[in-house]
Amino acid sequence: VDQTATPYYPEIIRTLKSVFKLNDFRHHQLEAINATMDGKDVFVLMPTGGGKSLCYQVPAVCHTGKTNGVTVVVSPLIALMIDQVNHLKAKKVDVVLFNSDQGLDSSREARARLLSPGRKPRLLYVTPERLHRSEDMRNILRRLYDGKELARFVVDEAHCVSTWGRDFRESYQDLDRLRVEYPKVPIMALTATANEQVMKDVIDRLRIQNCVLLKQSFNRPNLHYDVRPKQHRNVLADIAAFIKANHSGETGIIYCMSRNKCEEVARDLRDKYQLRAKHYHAQLTVEDKSRAQSAWQQGHCEIIVATIAFGMGIDKANVRFVIHHSLPKSLDGYYQETGRAGRDCEPADCVLFYTYGDTAILFKMIREGDATLEEKARQEDAIREVVRYCQNDVDCRRAQVLGYFGQAFNPRECHKSCNNCLDEAEIVEEDLTSAAKDAISLVQSLVKGGRERVTKNHCSNVFRGSMLKDVKDKGHDQQALFGAGAEMSRDRVDRLFDHLMNEQAFREEAVSNKQGWNTMYMQVSIRMPLTKCSLLIFFSVVVSACAR
Ligand code: ADP
Repeated sequence: VDQTATPYYPEIIRTLKSVFKLNDFRHHQLEAINATMDGKDVFVLMPTGGGKSLCYQVPAVCHTGKTNGVTVVVSPLIALMIDQVNHLKAKKVDVVLFNSDQGLDSSREARARLLSPGRKPRLLYVTPERLHRSEDMRNILRRLYDGKELARFVVDEAHCVSTWGRDFRESYQDLDRLRVEYPKVPIMALTATANEQVMKDVIDRLRIQNCVLLKQSFNRPNLHYDVRPKQHRNVLADIAAFIKANHSGETGIIYCMSRNKCEEVARDLRDKYQLRAKHYHAQLTVEDKSRAQSAWQQGHCEIIVATIAFGMGIDKANVRFVIHHSLPKSLDGYYQETGRAGRDCEPADCVLFYTYGDTAILFKMIREGDATLEEKARQEDAIREVVRYCQNDVDCRRAQVLGYFGQAFNPRECHKSCNNCLDEAEIVEEDLTSAAKDAISLVQSLVKGGRERVTKNHCSNVFRGSMLKDVKDKGHDQQALFGAGAEMSRDRVDRLFDHLMNEQAFREEAVSNKQGWNTMYMQVSIRMPLTKCSLLIFFSVVVSACAR
């Protein structure tokens, strides 16, 4: 079907250019827009950063569709909603927002604008709680519906409807009533979670069985995924060597965790390795940002060293490598950041330099952040997921990334385009259950229920049977399990400890000293003896991760 031949196309393309200042549509956007303007239900599955919002924002602003009036957007994340509303307002789009912690005055005003006979807002953003539980909101919707002024319902993050998904939300459960209460209003559901079961469940629950299904594969076959150990002293030399050997004179992005690090890495790449690099982060002035960005975009400097502030809305086709100098905050983020490489479909490299040590600062940032407890737990889990990905040096990386989004992928199709598939070394499985048990018992006796302060490093020294002064001074060489891991290499012991950390058997607690420095001390969260069952589940991960 020629999507440009629909009666809506002229207005759609005009809106895209004049309101959104964009020139072309990305994959599936036009299909989604045409379908919803034609009054059809639509299900859009698109990776994060793929451009889902445009699928409903363009039709919301248009007037030629089969249904007209207000587009109601249901979204679970208030911060994201506020962000979108601000963007739309900057584009002079008439939009109102209702959320649960909003002042009365602003809701009163929004309400009046929706009920007045004059020109109505084009979009109404609302939290699911507000949509169902507020009598007021239901009256507003009823009045709009009766006056044929409800253009469509948009369910963003639609996977939250499904109890199969990991993000199920109570408040999304009642969205099945939309079809019942407003049968003539088309529904558009959007998500970045590709699991078939979840998708089918969402479609059933929203009662949109005849929807136009726009499903995009998340696989990026031209990207090569690689995770390498990060050795703090050499990481920059490793990065520079990698670039010089593989991408000399080519364009790339290096992601760092902090602003300072970006500046330091860019400077060192210039001064020590004669590479043309510039830094970019949120703290730069608007002029400096656009100077750095355009120098990179126009090829005056090949490498941009950036925090994740860099990337939104950036479309450069020939990015040949994306390097993570430090750990990304989630696999979602990782997918999005690496996704900026190879947009021209030519081969590109994604290299992540991994050390467990990088998690400490991420966890600290979360602890000190102002998110809700629930949100903090989610953010911490996201980091653990990244760690699991990095530590798994057995399974196809592409399959792991796609699996995270719920998309099945046969590793045979990887064709050696990730370092795990490339590495044909024989994989020897080894059961580390008993070493792990010893490590837990040992640490338990060292921390004495939290009364004794010992670092992770100290614990692993005692476990390896090291005769360091500190070990002897504390009398820890007298522990029953002193040297229980003496047969293992230092690297393997570190990995075992990191693993137990990530599985939350151990955790670290920061204690500040007089100079304000934080030292991380060990805690044990798990009780021995473990049951057989929890042992099996628990350590199966250890087995595969320490396999080589
Ligand atoms: P998603 O909701 O799928 O994660 P967004 O809707 O936030 O993605 O879009 C991600 C980025 O892509 C935004 O910066 C947006 O402006 C940009 N974008 C979306 N559609 C287009 C397009 N057709 N052309 C250029 N940029 C686009």
